[in-house]
Amino acid sequence: MKKRYLLAPGPTPVPEAALLAMAQPIIHHRTPQFSEIFKETAELLKYVFQTGEDVLILAASGTGAMEGSIVNLYSPGDEVIVINGGKFGERWVKISEAYGLKVHWLKVEWGKAVNPADVKKLLDENPKVRGVLVQASETSTTAAHPIKELAAITKDRDCLLIVDGITAVGVFDVPMDAWGVDVLVSGSQKAFMLPPGLAFAALSQKAWKFQETAKCPKFYFDFKKERKNLKDNTTAYTPAVSLIIGLNTALKMIKEDGLENTFKRHDRLARATRAAGAALGLKPLAPEAPSNAATGVFVPEGVDGGKLVKYLRDEMGVTMAGGQDHLKGKILRIAHLGYVDTFDIITSIAAIEMALVKFGHKVELGKAVGAAQQVLLEGYK
Ligand SMILES: *Cc1c(COP(=O)(O)O)cnc(C)c1O
Repeated sequence: MKKRYLLAPGPTPVPEAALLAMAQPIIHHRTPQFSEIFKETAELLKYVFQTGEDVLILAASGTGAMEGSIVNLYSPGDEVIVINGGKFGERWVKISEAYGLKVHWLKVEWGKAVNPADVKKLLDENPKVRGVLVQASETSTTAAHPIKELAAITKDRDCLLIVDGITAVGVFDVPMDAWGVDVLVSGSQKAFMLPPGLAFAALSQKAWKFQETAKCPKFYFDFKKERKNLKDNTTAYTPAVSLIIGLNTALKMIKEDGLENTFKRHDRLARATRAAGAALGLKPLAPEAPSNAATGVFVPEGVDGGKLVKYLRDEMGVTMAGGQDHLKGKILRIAHLGYVDTFDIITSIAAIEMALVKFGHKVELGKAVGAAQQVLLEGYK
């Protein structure tokens, strides 16, 4: 027997209450019974998104909401700036180009956050740009971009700030309305503590204005149609009934803790993980602007990161993430978002210490665990 632990930045563990809710017999979606659940769930989503606007619920992975944002707000030939500092920034580029948008790349070194002054400069130089596309948390590099500062720049221009908040919403504070974020998207398998399969998108009034003139081709991801259906407590097409029922349960758990406590927990787990990394002497990947969703560290010189991740998963039963592209084999990403608490962090840190010993690296067992414990103590009376 091997007990398994899922500590990757998506999918994340699903709480028992949500699993049980989703195990119930399927109900029909065009019924008062489902409409009631749907309505309540849509309201709870507004709370987590910190918005008074509708939050659309789509049957798709998170990328569906990203694609939907492009096709509903732009026309071929429209110009956008993509803040490209990792795999998910690259995804904004690919989606935009697939629909014929003209993309101005703002390359950011992996692990770094964008400098808002660079965005302002690029916008000043390119007054036709109608969108800035960014990740609040670039999961591939574990860096967080400065959304509040970016929103202040786009606010008074004919330009939207479109934020991939897939590992940010429900992890740390991105108050959509208060900051003036125009589009905020997320997905079920990250902080929402659910299996993959739901994508969410919320649009500001300014974004809905853009929607009126957007000409990109679309059919399934038609936000106007979804919003109209949402007002009637339903969806345009068959919703992912069981996932929405699970979402209702998961959102109630978040609401019960309160968003502020949820952010505090993620912050504590993130700081504990960073302290553990430092105690192990592992160089952080995003030291200046680390995201509270996951912590990236470079594996020690001479250790094959790919083999380390495999060993942790297959031999120890602990699933974490490695690196992509030029960071492949070089880093380890320890997730701490969603249904994760103190002893998940202890597990992951202890496993890393033990695996490093097995890989011949000099480690004082328990040192990193102790460093994490010191921070995690804050969570208790
Ligand atoms: C997980 C993730 C996505 C979405 O990926 P899907 O596989 O489509 O759910 C997008 N952006 C970020 C930052 C992510 O972490």
